[in-house]
Amino acid sequence: MTRAQDAAARSLPVVIVGGGVGGVCTALALGRQGRRVMLLEQADQIGAIGYGVQIGPNVLPMLERLGVGQSVLEKGYQPTEIRWCDIASGASLAEIPLHTPEFARRYGGSRYIAIHRVDLHQLLLAACEALPNVELNQATAVQGYRQDGERLVVLSADGREIEAAAVIASDGLRSRIRAQMQPGDLPRDTGYVAHRTIVPMDQAPALARQRTGVTMWSGPGFHVIYYPLRGRTELNIVMVVRVPPGIDCESAAYRDHIAAIEAGAQAEPRELIERVSLERRWSIADRDPIRRWTDGRVTLLGDAAHATLQSLAQGAGMAIEDAVVLASILDEAGDDYAGAFERLQRARFLRTARVQLESRALWDVFHCDGLDAELRAMQWGERTPHDFYRCLDWLWTPLHPGA
Ligand SMILES: Cc1cc2nc3c(=O)[nH]c(=O)nc-3n(C[C@H](O)[C@H](O)[C@H](O)COP(=O)(O)OP(=O)(O)OC[C@H]3O[C@@H](n4cnc5c(N)ncnc54)[C@H](O)[C@@H]3O)c2cc1C
Repeated sequence: MTRAQDAAARSLPVVIVGGGVGGVCTALALGRQGRRVMLLEQADQIGAIGYGVQIGPNVLPMLERLGVGQSVLEKGYQPTEIRWCDIASGASLAEIPLHTPEFARRYGGSRYIAIHRVDLHQLLLAACEALPNVELNQATAVQGYRQDGERLVVLSADGREIEAAAVIASDGLRSRIRAQMQPGDLPRDTGYVAHRTIVPMDQAPALARQRTGVTMWSGPGFHVIYYPLRGRTELNIVMVVRVPPGIDCESAAYRDHIAAIEAGAQAEPRELIERVSLERRWSIADRDPIRRWTDGRVTLLGDAAHATLQSLAQGAGMAIEDAVVLASILDEAGDDYAGAFERLQRARFLRTARVQLESRALWDVFHCDGLDAELRAMQWGERTPHDFYRCLDWLWTPLHPGA
C-alpha cells in the first residue's frame, strides 16, 4: 500500500448512497482521485435492469475521463440516425443522421451510442473494483443522515451509523435523502407507463430488423422506440402508454386499449407492439427543477437531484456528467466538500433544469393530437439535419470540466 493509499484508508469515507449509473460513476471518479469511497446500495446486487440506454455525444467524453470510454465504444452500438415517424400516417417527422462529418465536427468527434445497461454497469463496476480505496456494499438501505457540527453520519435501515466525510445521494427519482432535505417535494407522475422488452434480432419483426438507427413512432398518448444493441444481435424496445383514467394495467381493458392503438398503427410499429411484454412496467415520472440540492456536506446527484422524462434520452447522461463535474471541482476544493457541493449545484442547475423542462415540452409534442399534430408535422418538416443539430448543440456539445 502506498503512503497516499494508507492515508486514504484511515480517513473518513465519502459515502455514496445508491449504485445506479450516477452512484457508480461518482464512486469511480472520486476513487480515481485516491479518496476513500463507500457505496451503499439497497439491492442485493449492484447491477442494472437489463435494457438499453442511449448515450448522447456529450456523454462519451465524460466516460473517457473516467477511463472507460474505449470499453464503452467496444460494448456499445453506434446507431446511424434518429428517426421519428407518425404512427398513424407513417409520415416521417424528423431524421437526425448520427454518422455525418458535420455531426463529428460539431461534437468533437464524439459518438452517439446505444448500450445494454448491464454491460455499462459491469464495466463501471469492474473499474471501481480495481481501486482498493472503493468499497461497494450491497443489501444496505439508507434511511437518512444526521449532521451536527463536525459529525456527519449516514443512518442505515439495519440501525448502523456510518460516519462520513461527505454524503452523495444518488438514490434515484424517489430519493430518501431528498425527502429528508426537501420534505413535501414529490415526484411528478405523468400518468404514462413504459414497458421494456429485448428480443434477439433474428426473432425481431422483419421491418424493424432492417433499421440501423434509433426509430420512434408516436401518436396521441403513445410512443414506441427501438434500437439495436450488442452488435445488432438484440433489439431493445420501449413502449410508452398513457393509461386511460380508471383502468388498471393488469386488466383486460388495458389490453384492449393497447389492441386499439395497434389496430390504428402502421405495419412496422404494429409488429413491434405485438412483441412487447406487458408483464413489467415502469411509471413515468420526473421532478420539478429545484435550485437547492445540497445541505452542508450532503448533496444530491443524478435523478435524485434532477430526474427528467426520457424524451431527450439524457437522464443517465446528466448523472454521468454530474459525477465528472463534481470530481473536477473536488480536484481544486480538496476536502472542502460543502464548498464543492455548492459549486456543483451552481454549475449544474441551469443545464439540468433545461433538460427537465425541454424534455417535458418534447413529451407533449411526441403525444399530441389533432391540429397540434398537423402543425407539428408542418414545423418539423421544415427542419434539415443541420437545424436539428443546431437545436441540440446546447445539449450534445461535450463539456470540458476543469479544462
Ligand atoms: C423507460 C426509460 C428509458 C430511459 N432511457 C434513457 C436513455 O436512453 N438515456 C439516458 O441517459 N437516460 C434514460 N433514462 C433515464 C435513466 O434511466 C435515469 O436517469 C438514470 O438511471 C438515473 O441514474 P441514477 O443513478 O441517478 O438513479 P437510479 O438509476 O435510479 O439509481 C438509484 C439507485 O439507488 C438505489 N437506492 C434507492 N434508494 C436507496 C436507499 N434508500 N439506500 C440505498 N440505495 C438506494 C436504487 O436501488 C438504485 O440502484 C430512461 C428512463 C426510463 C424510465
